[in-house]
Amino acid sequence: MLTPGGSASLYEKRKGVYPKAVDGFFRRLKWAIMAVTLAIYWGTPWIRWDRGPYAPDQAVLVDLANRRFYMFDIEIWPHEFYYVAGLLIMAGIGLFLVTSAVGRAWCGYACPQTVWTDLFQHVERFMDGDRNAQIRLAKAPWSLGKLARRLAKWSVWLLIAFLTGGAWIFYYADAPTLQQQFWTGTAAPAAYITVAVLTATTFVLGGFMREQVCIYMCPWPRIQAAMLDERSLIVTYKHWRGEKRGSLKKAEAHPGEYGDCIDCNQCVAVCPTGIDIREGSQVGCITCALCIDACDKVMEQVDRPRGLIDYCTEEDAEAEQKGAAPRPVLRTLLRPRTIAYFMVWSGIGVAMLFALGARTRVDISAQQDRNPIFVRLSDGTIRNAYTVKIRNMEARPRPMEVGVEGLPGAQLWTDATAREQAAPTLSTTVPADSVAKLRVFVALPGSGDARQDFHFAVRALDKEGGADREPARFERP
Ligand code: SF4
Ligand code: SF4
Repeated sequence: MLTPGGSASLYEKRKGVYPKAVDGFFRRLKWAIMAVTLAIYWGTPWIRWDRGPYAPDQAVLVDLANRRFYMFDIEIWPHEFYYVAGLLIMAGIGLFLVTSAVGRAWCGYACPQTVWTDLFQHVERFMDGDRNAQIRLAKAPWSLGKLARRLAKWSVWLLIAFLTGGAWIFYYADAPTLQQQFWTGTAAPAAYITVAVLTATTFVLGGFMREQVCIYMCPWPRIQAAMLDERSLIVTYKHWRGEKRGSLKKAEAHPGEYGDCIDCNQCVAVCPTGIDIREGSQVGCITCALCIDACDKVMEQVDRPRGLIDYCTEEDAEAEQKGAAPRPVLRTLLRPRTIAYFMVWSGIGVAMLFALGARTRVDISAQQDRNPIFVRLSDGTIRNAYTVKIRNMEARPRPMEVGVEGLPGAQLWTDATAREQAAPTLSTTVPADSVAKLRVFVALPGSGDARQDFHFAVRALDKEGGADREPARFERP
């Protein structure tokens, strides 16, 4: 675009997008996915999950204060962060899998930007009317009536945005308690700041920026270009069938000269990003398939076959141009690339499930005192000291026994017991869901190797059992 001075401008003024209401299979699918995703987002923090008296009863909770992540029966400790990393890797590979199989289905149906923009557009349609009424209102000069309608719409958007931002904080604390604190002004300042930021971003991104987020801000459409291939599903206008486009009147006046596209513009009118799919595959197309619904309806009305716009792979499009019959889209799901992604994705999932099932709920770590490394006691024995941490990952107190392996004759005691009470093992009860820190002294006769490697071992003494060991070193002069 040239500026009045004749130089090229890199700024393109946004053209308003007023998507028309449409009905059809894909619209109903979008309704269903919107209902499910919103229900999951808003409902999850309120699901209760009984973990006994020592752990929170919220099913999904990122407990930042106590550094725990709860997800139903799974509890992740900070030292097990690799499970969260595994989940993130699975989410990434899952996105690759979905994209290579069904194109930008994530963008078109489940991305939060898509879901919330769709919700805001429905509110807009409900309050301002459908596409033409919205365009008329946008063009109308400002008046009290227009201001009142705008304020009413923005208020509903703001309420949705507030509920969206408000729900987010409930994932980080007990939802009923935090809700009460929030309304009584006693919640942490971070809660109010988070809600304010998320309310503002939801309001602006869903209400005003909409398709601009997908086209200009989100990196995903660019990344996807590397993942799509000639066998990925994309929304395709079958130009070999539609062109030369022209109105019904022209087609009737010149039989055989025009294709199936009657140039009614319905596919453009319903598009939430305002693009014309007849111009070919483009970054602005989020593959929501609403143009398929719109065009299929038009084709039915003019008594032509549906599918002028359809989900189609590049490979199938080429075959169809050469006269092959359209092939079922689901056929594209099974191919080496999607199978490979699925194998990697499910392999990580199975490995994580196995690791979760096999992980011990008892853990021990030990750190030797370095200053001094050893002490010679009055009876000639050598004493080393260690800081030993015993982790009880169950939601109940557990009796534990700590001992050493590979250090025959070793005597153990702690800074809470006397030297005279030294014994080959120590007993302690570790409170529920916590770490007990002990200062453990280990004594051996004064003569022997200067360095002896051994293991601290911990064993749960209740019926569920469980054990862990940690390498350590005993040192003499
Ligand atoms: S809706 Fe179908 S017939 Fe109408 S302009 Fe679009 S492609 Fe052509
Ligand atoms: S062109 Fe069709 S599939 Fe693409 S964003 Fe627009 S309506 Fe959705």
